[in-house]
Amino acid sequence: MESVEIAIVGAGPVGLTLAGLLAQRGVTVAVLERRRERSPHSRAIGIHPPAQDVLRALGLGEALATEAVAIGGGQVFYGESRLGRLALPEAPMALPQARTETLLEAHLKILAPRALRLGAEVSELKQGIDCIQIFCKSGEALTAKLLVGCDGTNSTVRTLADIKRTGSTYPDRYLMGDFTDNTAFGSDAALFFSHEGIVESFPLPHCQRRWVARLRDSQTALTVDSLGALVFARTGQTIPLTTCSWLSPFGIEGFVAETFLKGRVALLGDAAHVVSPIGGQGMNLGILGADTLAQAWNGLPESLEHALATHHHVAKRVARRAAFNTHMGRPLPALSARRALITLALRLPRLSQKFGEVFTMRDLA
Ligand SMILES: Cc1cc2nc3c(=O)[nH]c(=O)nc-3n(C[C@H](O)[C@H](O)[C@H](O)COP(=O)(O)OP(=O)(O)OC[C@H]3O[C@@H](n4cnc5c(N)ncnc54)[C@H](O)[C@@H]3O)c2cc1C
Repeated sequence: MESVEIAIVGAGPVGLTLAGLLAQRGVTVAVLERRRERSPHSRAIGIHPPAQDVLRALGLGEALATEAVAIGGGQVFYGESRLGRLALPEAPMALPQARTETLLEAHLKILAPRALRLGAEVSELKQGIDCIQIFCKSGEALTAKLLVGCDGTNSTVRTLADIKRTGSTYPDRYLMGDFTDNTAFGSDAALFFSHEGIVESFPLPHCQRRWVARLRDSQTALTVDSLGALVFARTGQTIPLTTCSWLSPFGIEGFVAETFLKGRVALLGDAAHVVSPIGGQGMNLGILGADTLAQAWNGLPESLEHALATHHHVAKRVARRAAFNTHMGRPLPALSARRALITLALRLPRLSQKFGEVFTMRDLA
């Protein structure tokens, strides 16, 4: 049976980042990925400064600089009235997740040409004393000192390792779509609070823009037209609907696994923690976890205990702030404590700075 030091399940952004970081350190890795082709669509778009640092250390700095849009700040509105602009201490970068994964995969091919195995769906594990055996539906089998499940929210690895997670599904539902950018926001994001729920808008490369709207509780229509109507009613902005390149509804979940390390099995990314996408921190948190694991690994699973326990605390913090962001996006009466908080955050430089650091995840370091 083939033997590697670390086997990674899942070639999403987190598994690919981890594989690259480990290969860079001379660790032999295999990445087992069940799909044969990548989805062209991108859930995540925002890469915050700490995750940028990791990607730069991996050698993707030039690609980020040329391909991503640096988000200068956030214009904040209540309905059509502009409340102010949140300047960010460091710019998050907008790059569609599919492109980030393509860059990571190409880079991994250079560092470890044979590492990525497509069409390899992991279905069985056997924990031994000094190794773990991994079996795929295709018949492929491996042994490794450590197995890292980066296989997403419905993680097979988490189930096979019998690691529970706690959390819940939120009542909030959203609709998002990518369009040609016809706004005057340039490289700024825009947040529109309203008595019907939030609308968010983010710049994308190639003069595209993502629009995200919280759905009304009773809303059943999930079409481009209904997104356009929601956005117009709450913001006065007219989206060029015929330019839509992707439309997707999504719900909100918040779950954290009870542990990120059990024997020779570690969990990272959405397999370990699913946080509300409002605020765009899930993939970023996974990338930071990959960096934490890669830096701590010294050949023994025990070497990860402290690092992954610390990352567990970080994940819980991020989950709490994502829950706060989701709460802020709910229908907002004109006279409310939340609206007062937003106004204060825009007017008081120290509070504004704090919000900027939390939003860009700089406070976690
Ligand atoms: C609408 C939306 C917007 C978002 N926006 C942002 C954002 O702007 N910024 C941000 O940081 N995060 C964002 N997120 C969250 C982000 O998309 C996820 O956190 C991220 O995709 C998690 O990456 P991952 O590598 O852990 O898992 P995934 O991307 O889910 O990848 C898991 C991989 O594992 C593979 N796999 C699964 N099971 C097996 C198996 N048994 N064997 C082999 N392979 C397997 C899958 O095929 C897949 O390729 C958003 C999420 C949503 C829903």
